[in-house]
Amino acid sequence: MAKKIQTPRGTQDILPEESYQWLYLENEIRKIFNRFDFFEIRTPVFEETELFARGVGETTDIVQKEMYTFEDRGGKSMTLRPEMTASVVRAYIQHALWNQGAVQKLSYISPMFRQERPQAGRLRQFYQFGVEILGTPGPVADVEAIALAMEIFNHLGLRNLTLRMNSVGCPKCRPNYRAVLRESLKNVKGRLCPDCQVRYDTNPLRILDCKKEICRKLTEDVPGIEDYLCEECRGHFNAVKNGLKVLEIPYTSDKRLVRGLDYYTRTAFEIVSTELGSQDAVCGGGRYDRLVFELGGPDVSGVGFAAGMERLLVIMRKNGLPLGEPPRPEVYFVSLGENAKTAVLKLAQQLRRSGFRCELDLAGRSVKAQMREANRIGALFAVIVGEDELSKNEAQVKNLENGTQTGVPFGKLPEFIRRDQ
Ligand SMILES: [Zn+2]
Ligand SMILES: [Zn+2]
Repeated sequence: MAKKIQTPRGTQDILPEESYQWLYLENEIRKIFNRFDFFEIRTPVFEETELFARGVGETTDIVQKEMYTFEDRGGKSMTLRPEMTASVVRAYIQHALWNQGAVQKLSYISPMFRQERPQAGRLRQFYQFGVEILGTPGPVADVEAIALAMEIFNHLGLRNLTLRMNSVGCPKCRPNYRAVLRESLKNVKGRLCPDCQVRYDTNPLRILDCKKEICRKLTEDVPGIEDYLCEECRGHFNAVKNGLKVLEIPYTSDKRLVRGLDYYTRTAFEIVSTELGSQDAVCGGGRYDRLVFELGGPDVSGVGFAAGMERLLVIMRKNGLPLGEPPRPEVYFVSLGENAKTAVLKLAQQLRRSGFRCELDLAGRSVKAQMREANRIGALFAVIVGEDELSKNEAQVKNLENGTQTGVPFGKLPEFIRRDQ
């Protein structure tokens, strides 16, 4: 036997037994995107590496350790996208989308790629849904992005969600806070983890979101950025919080919610599911007032979020939330004899054109085996056609749920099946 080939490490097949759940989820998410009047954007799964180096940040773990980067046959460095914001902003700039409306509201459900160490729940090809609102610095856009994310999770039945909020300030006020942070950590600097000792000099805000126990302990009492925001940033943050109050979306302030990069500004948020004791973020987002400009576009702001599909599915399954039903055919054609086999091809075509999901025997099975198959796949009706039926232009239709059987003229099949359901 030839050698079997498996999925690459950290990837998975989504088989029919599960794919209907993905379709359900994608449909429901798109419904809410539509209600908020977002438009879907699709970008290539690979881009020039430089886009992510500049758009995600040279110093981030993603760019330094996790990207799938390769040289194409022309010697150009390409990368499978590790996240979507940079690609959406690239498209916004490339197509001058600001000409098509001052504010662009773009949504996506797309695969992303990161070569992380394989571990439970971390895939190397994973799916995210999210949005970007481009072209406005107004706090109402932040509120809309957060409200949309919350609405999706509510709509899907998730409860016990916590919204964590912070503001990371702007290039005007952040340097002050950096100084405050360094000052308050200067006596314990040597006890921080090695990464954070580097961060102390390069990017002290990142010390706050270090996951190491020792760093969390040492930063417990350091002041949050909130007290050091400039007037504009404070006003923006208050307006966002007020909007959330109006919408009755509860939130908690979390000083540890920081973004490492300079083009992230003001609002940062995270939605965490506290169900089943897990503290996993199901969604993260925030505002980026410098990114479009940094990537060669006009000086306009953006705000958005991204959420992982796989994690969402795991939580929904654990909680027994609805995830759609595997599709069942309405009709299974049971045929006996060569003429009948040909006739049911035509009948199936007619019923399919009337909108019914139909199946017929492709494997040359006996009538008994065909009946068994009809039951196994959960068909609602078996439409039985043999020589007798052909001569009368009439099928025997068996309702597989209640066992009743009726003679139905071929031409009346769509009508009968519709009525009898
Ligand atoms: Zn500021
Ligand atoms: Zn640390």
